[in-house]
Amino acid sequence: MMKNKKPLLFSPGAWICGILDHRFEVSQNITEHIKEYKCTRCGVEMTDTAQGFMARLTPKFKETNEFLANFYRRRCSRLKYEKEALSKAS
Ligand SMILES: [Zn+2]
Repeated sequence: MMKNKKPLLFSPGAWICGILDHRFEVSQNITEHIKEYKCTRCGVEMTDTAQGFMARLTPKFKETNEFLANFYRRRCSRLKYEKEALSKAS
């Protein structure tokens, strides 16, 4: 029985990715160690995780990354501010 026939999800490059591998490029820097990647052929999105492996960029990971990026930016600007304050004080 052929029920729930799935629509074709593949873009033209996808089958090449299936054979060769994805061709990822960094689409976004989240933190120094965590980046988001996008395959230039099929558009699949991956992300580094805090555990150090790559995972499919799910909405859940996207949410986590947004949070991390915010946190990271804040930390960076605070460090910069502290550095400036120190250099002024000396
Ligand atoms: Zn791909």
